[in-house]
Amino acid sequence: MEGPSLYLAAEWLAPFVGKVILGVEGNTRIGKERLREKTILDIFSWGKHLVFQFDDFALRVHFMLYGTFEAMLKGEKITGDYPKKRASPRLTLVFEEGQIIFYSSSLKYLETPHARNLYDFSTDIMSSVWDSKKALNAVKNHQEDEIADVLLDQTIFSGVGNIIKNEVLFLVKKKPSTLIKDMSHSLLQKIVKIAQQFSLQFYEWRKQFVLKKHYRIYRKSFCPLCGEKVCRKKTGKRERVSFFCPNCQK
Ligand SMILES: [Zn+2]
Repeated sequence: MEGPSLYLAAEWLAPFVGKVILGVEGNTRIGKERLREKTILDIFSWGKHLVFQFDDFALRVHFMLYGTFEAMLKGEKITGDYPKKRASPRLTLVFEEGQIIFYSSSLKYLETPHARNLYDFSTDIMSSVWDSKKALNAVKNHQEDEIADVLLDQTIFSGVGNIIKNEVLFLVKKKPSTLIKDMSHSLLQKIVKIAQQFSLQFYEWRKQFVLKKHYRIYRKSFCPLCGEKVCRKKTGKRERVSFFCPNCQK
């Protein structure tokens, strides 16, 4: 899951703030009993992290590549169309009012009563304090790197994942393997701006459960602009799959 989905998750789960965890289940080996009888004081996202704050510690959930979650509140599923995984839940939190279930996620305790203080929200693509100038400067420190790798750098674009990376590069018509040093200041500025704009758009689409139908290049077979066959290959040091049109993206 990418940043916008996590931001939305924190919004969807907000009704659980102030609620007490009555039961814990799941195959996690994190020591889940610690969560029993704890009251959730805060839920927030940062990049690809979803954090649940308790009195003197917090639970950090990272959905990695295939993680997902669902939540029921007063008998209603509040997380919409998230795919129901057949895998056993990693962790289920049971409340009087409902439950939250995490699948295939990485869980970690943060030993602090103020987990928000551990994070720099100026790098979080979904944050109101996102700092585009800071991002641009950081991008420029990667002259020898490929733009597709830099967009996935969580210290610069916290929350940007492979879908956003591919769609942004399609929007600016640049090949994923383009080196930073071969791009102009104004183009880099545009990429930073569009990365944020697209992430906010992604959030709106995700909220309405219409995200997938708005993909233009990610997992597509043909370019929507010229009809050329979409190129699909692993690129850069990160070796994540890139989708691009060899015709439109120079
Ligand atoms: Zn094309």
